[in-house]
Amino acid sequence: MSIDTNDTGFGRAKKALGQHFLHERGVIDRIVHAIDPKPGERIVEIGPGQGALTFPLLRTHRTLTVIEFDRDLIAPLTAAAGPIGELAIVHRDVLKVDFSELAGPGGTLRLVGNLPYNISSPILFHALDHADAIIDMHFMLQKEVVDRMAAGPGSKVYGRLSVMLQAWCDVTPLFTVGPGAFRPPPKVDSAVVRLVPKPPARVPIDDRARFAAIVRAAFGQRRKTLRNALGGLLSAEAIASAGIDPGQRAEQLEVADFIALSKAPAEA
Ligand code: SAM
Repeated sequence: MSIDTNDTGFGRAKKALGQHFLHERGVIDRIVHAIDPKPGERIVEIGPGQGALTFPLLRTHRTLTVIEFDRDLIAPLTAAAGPIGELAIVHRDVLKVDFSELAGPGGTLRLVGNLPYNISSPILFHALDHADAIIDMHFMLQKEVVDRMAAGPGSKVYGRLSVMLQAWCDVTPLFTVGPGAFRPPPKVDSAVVRLVPKPPARVPIDDRARFAAIVRAAFGQRRKTLRNALGGLLSAEAIASAGIDPGQRAEQLEVADFIALSKAPAEA
């Protein structure tokens, strides 16, 4: 069954804002089921759009915070939510929203959303900066991005996104969604993914910036050996001192190997 949103006062989809609105009831139900909201949880939706996920979530959970950048959607969302539950709307660019502040002191939140695909990676990295305040994330993204997020060593699509996300989160692809589930349909397949930030004890990274710089440099020149790709950051001896062969390439390394490299002294 599909939901018709053409005459609801929400207006037309805006390409620049990555607006592809979900209308397949079956897909919406599967996402809500995967999120499985529990009483007392703080759920925050990124990009509610015309409310395809918002209203079903609000119906079961009664209270919800949404972050929406498109000013034209604020009034219709407010009006439609009124009879259903308590909807707090943050009218802002999600990349400027401090999730830790939103969670409150010592608080936590669950992030959900059918993300604007044009800024999906920046949103993921932004969420990582606030991983301590996030219980989990359920996102719809391009399938190709979800494949990269979940890839392991040896895969062609294993890269910076895989290592950065898997260092901080357990990444579980849930299911694929075809273009027909959206209006207008995107050109690519989509997929829903679950990210669960690891407890600090499982993230033994002392220097975040150094870890990020090493991962970036290693995959920046992925065909080169680590010795060459990491030349400016670590000597070959330093790479070897971390227990890693400097003749290997980035795509052969486990996440734990990158963590070991980030702890190695620049010169051994
Ligand atoms: N959740 C709705 C659905 O599933 O039908 C809409 C999803 S649509 C793919 C992405 C949504 O993110 C749009 O509502 C768009 O306006 C919003 N958006 C785009 N860029 C944004 C930004 N920087 N900050 C917050 N929301 C943004």
